[in-house]
Amino acid sequence: MTDTAMIEVRHVKKSFGTLAVLKDMSVTVPRGGVVSLIGPSGSGKSTLLRCLNLLAIPDEGRIRIGTHVMEFGKGHRMPKDRDLAAFRSKVGMVFQSFNLFPHMSVVQNVMEGPVTVLGRGRDEAREDALRLLDKVGLRDKAEAYPDRLSGGQKQRVAIARALAMNPEVMLFDEATSALDPELVGEVLTVVRQLAAEGMTMVLVTHEIAFARDVAETVIFMRDGYVVEEGPARQVIDAPREAATRTFLSHFH
Ligand code: ADP
Ligand code: MG
Repeated sequence: MTDTAMIEVRHVKKSFGTLAVLKDMSVTVPRGGVVSLIGPSGSGKSTLLRCLNLLAIPDEGRIRIGTHVMEFGKGHRMPKDRDLAAFRSKVGMVFQSFNLFPHMSVVQNVMEGPVTVLGRGRDEAREDALRLLDKVGLRDKAEAYPDRLSGGQKQRVAIARALAMNPEVMLFDEATSALDPELVGEVLTVVRQLAAEGMTMVLVTHEIAFARDVAETVIFMRDGYVVEEGPARQVIDAPREAATRTFLSHFH
């Protein structure tokens, strides 16, 4: 299935000083596929996502997103800023903290990247931003400022803002962890809609039921390794590894 893969991570290693965080990670996500990444705190989930959009630079290994390939380690140069920017623009990321610009309206937040990074005209960028806000159910909040929004609304703006860059893949790092429970559903609905539209996604989540329902594949990682990987229902409902069972028992 390698030829249809949208994301390919091969033997990626990443340390911070003497702390080896990713020990030998290989992950494949098919085009249009959704992978959920679960595991205990400190297992390297965020670091893997950060490596996928090169917010963190792997020490070794190879990452391919669509047609963009980056190789790291001996014999490979550090990527140039321009190459990093080109690679990152293909990868949308949504964080636990929404990171909206507080001094800009919702629509300005969504337009900002396309205008300043991609050089789009303001009218065109605004039109596109309004279409994306409509998609996440926030067309009527276009002129509001972030401090007037609920956490769920802020996170939907953050998703629209990431989509405005026209990414090939979307990464979600605990996108619902900071939300009040009653606001989680509206964000998951948007993620589910993106999955249905064929967006390739990697979701780091503690919403285990959601991970099972929306993802085809679940990866359980611990201490910088993949412990178990398989069809979502198998890994969640009938884990093969004792470590996966122990981890999942905390969610019942
Ligand atoms: P997870 O998202 O699974 O909780 P992380 O990838 O955030 O795990 O972190 C894995 C380990 O790497 C933790 O021990 C964390 O303290 C460490 N770590 C993450 N980022 C850095 C960094 N920039 N500098 C030093 N240590 C880091
Ligand atoms: Mg994390």
